Amino acid sequence: MPFDYDVIIIGGGINGCGVARDAAGRGYKVLLAEMNDLASGTSSASTKLIHGGLRYLEHHEFRLVREALMEREVLWSLAPHIIWPLRFVLPHHSALRPAWMLRLGLFIYDHIGGRKKLPPTKVLDLQKDAAGAPLKDQFRKGFEYSDASVQDARMVVLNARDAAERGAEILTRTEVTEVTRKAQGFAVSLVNCITKSSRSVTARLVVNAAGPWVDRVLSMAAQGKGARNVRLVQGSHIVVRKLFAHDKAYIFQNDDKRIIFAIPYEDDFTLIGTTDRDHICAPETVKISAEETEYLCASAGAYFKQQIVPTDVVWSYSGIRPLFEQGASSAQEATRDYVLKVDGDKARGAMINVFGGKITTYRRLAESVLSEIEQLLGARKPSWTATAPLPGGDFPVDGFDALVARLVRHAPGVEKATLRRLARLYGTSAFDILGARGELGRIIAGDLGVNEIDHLVRREWAVSTDDILWRRTKLGLRFGTDDVKALEAFLQQSASQAAAG
Ligand code: FAD
Repeated sequence: MPFDYDVIIIGGGINGCGVARDAAGRGYKVLLAEMNDLASGTSSASTKLIHGGLRYLEHHEFRLVREALMEREVLWSLAPHIIWPLRFVLPHHSALRPAWMLRLGLFIYDHIGGRKKLPPTKVLDLQKDAAGAPLKDQFRKGFEYSDASVQDARMVVLNARDAAERGAEILTRTEVTEVTRKAQGFAVSLVNCITKSSRSVTARLVVNAAGPWVDRVLSMAAQGKGARNVRLVQGSHIVVRKLFAHDKAYIFQNDDKRIIFAIPYEDDFTLIGTTDRDHICAPETVKISAEETEYLCASAGAYFKQQIVPTDVVWSYSGIRPLFEQGASSAQEATRDYVLKVDGDKARGAMINVFGGKITTYRRLAESVLSEIEQLLGARKPSWTATAPLPGGDFPVDGFDALVARLVRHAPGVEKATLRRLARLYGTSAFDILGARGELGRIIAGDLGVNEIDHLVRREWAVSTDDILWRRTKLGLRFGTDDVKALEAFLQQSASQAAAG
């Protein structure tokens, strides 16, 4: 029986989009269905770090930490617009982990992950170093080490864009409602969440990359009714006005053995997170609680001279970690590593289920999924994603300022701050947005012009104001109600013009 696709992927988070990109690039016929917007699940709600996870060393997750550390510089070189190095300041707390333990952990962190370009750990005198200035006087000594920042939702969209450019069909606002076994493969029912129209498509393989919904999809496929493979662990973040002037981040130890980060965010803000607590309701109900907000304010307030109160919070978000269930006693002890489970074989077709994972390791996870696909369908082309830049990332890791300078020459009429913003979001694709004339087009609100919106709608699957203001960009932090209304009106007008032909 001929199949419509080689592989149907359920879920447009980082894992689904990473698999779609890799598979399309290796010559498989791919369809990806996402029931909401790309990155609308966990993949836009992370701490936004490309990191090994210093804390996971304590849980002896050496395989994961090593793989993640090795990925830092690989991903940075593939997407230097949306990923950049970040130095972390870890103050020594006299009542918590001893200095020798921090030093040992950082020594391992520096040496097990093939670090080449990122600078190593150093000891800090917080009484003299600028990083000590915002901290309470009791913190005299600290350490500084390297990791990286990522615009998480953009990473997802860029993978989807590249997958589409390599032939994958990416359907957003399309829910998979049924997965039925057929001889040698599967029939998958797709429902368009806007028009409510439905259709059925077939494939030899299904990749279940539904993140927190992975067990729900398994139950739907009737292979794991009531399946409980993932532990849903909620994590929330708060954003407040900038708490310090330098560009380093902090990692603070709490007396409950957890850690929280305070990270410079979008120029004018500080991002603080995260929490770790079991989530027992449906994943879509996730929302920060007053208790979590207070916990984050208090944890940061234990270190900063400036106290933070819930009314300082300008934005917050929550996400669900779909962690592989292995019976860990507390949420923070559950493994952050990924696990693949294949149900089926070459003759019958198979469903590949993805559990857990990090944004940092998505590319390696995709390669592992591709190894399974190759075993089931036969290999077509070798692995390729370690060296192929993501869209807009085709410039050197130290070339960001040079890129901004090129944009300034190309579009002398546009504010430099806006060009910098475009360079961070789109890299070299900013030239396509500005066009041959170097213009933003008619301004709809703030510095958001028609050319950028057009790019987001036509090439990045943006449909709603939230897609544009919170996932493709973070202009939501700066837009007032009237700005949002203006964008909403523009999107509606464009949609009706498109519908009218
Ligand atoms: P998701 O992003 O949730 O994607 C799954 C998608 O499937 C969703 O978009 C959903 O809408 C879709 N879907 C579900 N069911 C269906 C269906 N029936 N039909 C169609 N679509 C469907 N990792 C890091 O590397 N660095 C960090 O700093 C970091 N910080 C984190 C902080 C927090 C608080 C959390 C929660 C996670 C963090 N992570 C971090 C982990 C990382 O964010 C996740 O591992 C990753 O985003 C999971 O991606 P995913 O694609 O598996 O899931």
